Amino acid sequence: MHQMTSHLQPEVEIINGDFKGKDIVSLDQFSVEDLTTVFNVTRQMKRIAENNEPCHILEGLLVGLLFFEPSSRTFGSFAAAVKRLGGQTLEMQNPEAVSSVSKGETFEDTIQVIEAYTNAIVLRHRFAGAARQAAQAATCVPVINAGDGNNEHPTQTLLDMYTLYERFGRLDNLTGLLAGDALNSRTIHSLLRGLSLYKNNTMYVLSPRQLRLSRDDYVSLQDRGVRLIEIHREQDIPRDCDFWYWTRVQKERFASAEEYQRAQSEIVVASPALLKTYAKKDMILMDPLPRVESVDPAVDADERAVYLRSQIRNGVYTRMALLALVLGRI
Ligand code: ASP
Repeated sequence: MHQMTSHLQPEVEIINGDFKGKDIVSLDQFSVEDLTTVFNVTRQMKRIAENNEPCHILEGLLVGLLFFEPSSRTFGSFAAAVKRLGGQTLEMQNPEAVSSVSKGETFEDTIQVIEAYTNAIVLRHRFAGAARQAAQAATCVPVINAGDGNNEHPTQTLLDMYTLYERFGRLDNLTGLLAGDALNSRTIHSLLRGLSLYKNNTMYVLSPRQLRLSRDDYVSLQDRGVRLIEIHREQDIPRDCDFWYWTRVQKERFASAEEYQRAQSEIVVASPALLKTYAKKDMILMDPLPRVESVDPAVDADERAVYLRSQIRNGVYTRMALLALVLGRI
């Protein structure tokens, strides 16, 4: 498998109002109308989950969770989503260690085998572009990208955008601060793509210089209309942000422990003092988690911190919605 060098994905199949059977590999496939559909279905799913309603939407269907890279939230929330909808899962974590992949089986063969057993495949992989490659290999069932290397994480963005939509009632005219490892954070890459679909959004991106967005991403996102302002120092944080989106330094993308430590030492941590100085009273603080020296746990008690509250729960509801749509059951 070769690694993609660019995050640009011009040739993905757009959803265009019809989710059934579609692979979901990039935010680029969604229009505003498609996102509105997901959010409308998410509201129904939230009711089902909150009330523990017995549900048959995915009854008779089996979803393969194929996770080549460690994950707790995404894996757990996909499993919860399928089961809340009455479906079943076939779960493989770390197949490189426990399956025929360790015997040298090709990625394409592994995908086609799991495809033969299931009705959809949810894939997490450390290589950028792996989800697209899997989608090409699986011709009968949809593949959902649950994070491919430092490329994209579309389902994280669905839950992030739903969290913003629930809080603000809109996804346009927002000012945000996205902090941390902008170069490698797939959740930042997908979120910026999503927010670029809406009018008049201004996003400040706070990172050490060596972790700023790739120039390809920077240019293509600006072209889409999202106003991007890169900053590198705490003092430059604006005081009028509607939300902060904090991310950890993506340790697994660094060539050496020293390089990682160097980057980590330049990171601005979200602390109570930082919020006190720069954050509005009615903003929210998000984090895709896990937080690793990114958000001080002392912030958790602040009611503006939603990462362990609504944001995490919305992961299950939005994934329920997407699965029901892609599997043609809603
Ligand atoms: N869980 C998110 C991801 O898989 C964020 C992170 O790992 O930092 O990208």
